[in-house]
Amino acid sequence: PATLRLDRLLSNLGYGSRREVQDLIEAGYVLLDGEAVIDADEKIAVTPDLPSRMTVEGEPLDPPPGLVLMMNKPVGVTCSHKEQGPLVYSLLPERWRARNPAISTVGRLDKETSGLLLLTDDGVLLHRIISPKANVAKRYDVTLDRPLRGDEKALFAAGTLMLEGEEKPLLPAVFEAASDKRALVTITEGRYHQVRRMFAAIGNHVVALRRDRVGALALPDDLAPGAYRILSEAELMQVF
Ligand code: URA
Repeated sequence: PATLRLDRLLSNLGYGSRREVQDLIEAGYVLLDGEAVIDADEKIAVTPDLPSRMTVEGEPLDPPPGLVLMMNKPVGVTCSHKEQGPLVYSLLPERWRARNPAISTVGRLDKETSGLLLLTDDGVLLHRIISPKANVAKRYDVTLDRPLRGDEKALFAAGTLMLEGEEKPLLPAVFEAASDKRALVTITEGRYHQVRRMFAAIGNHVVALRRDRVGALALPDDLAPGAYRILSEAELMQVF
């Protein structure tokens, strides 16, 4: 495992500036296996189990780098570090927003889209998931303004559907009707507002959009809108 100086580890996890965490360490507030570590330059092996062994001011250490989260994104928050208005990051603990490397969303959901959103501080993993080559399927539960026409399944499967203003047809997508105004749509690309524009291209209008799967990973029923949790290794494997 990677090793890091304790003061660097803590400041990278958002506990404060290098100076601030040095004070915390030297004052005996950081324990490893029950004993105070008072040397700020002590080398720490950064393993996933570290939070079960290290405490800071009596609380378990935050998750070390290599974090993957799943969130049930609510409607009305934006997947951006920059834009105005409520951001998905505002749903995370304040200290987690000061981490280096930063936690980022794995791809984006529109402000008005809800559902399964992954977040990670692992840039390599992020690119593995969003790369077009990875072909990770994303499934959306779509609520429509107008009744289904009946030919959506064939139109989306054809691999010939063109979106307004684009030059390359969409890859085949899987369509399953759920009721006369509801459907499940699975896509492997991630073009801008793709699902909304797919229905616009065939004369319908999406009134609600919720992602319920990424790869084989399903949004758990017990994860309330706005809630998040750390993804297990087994759950992460389901993404690919
Ligand atoms: N398609 C959309 O239109 N919006 C999303 O957020 C995701 C897929």
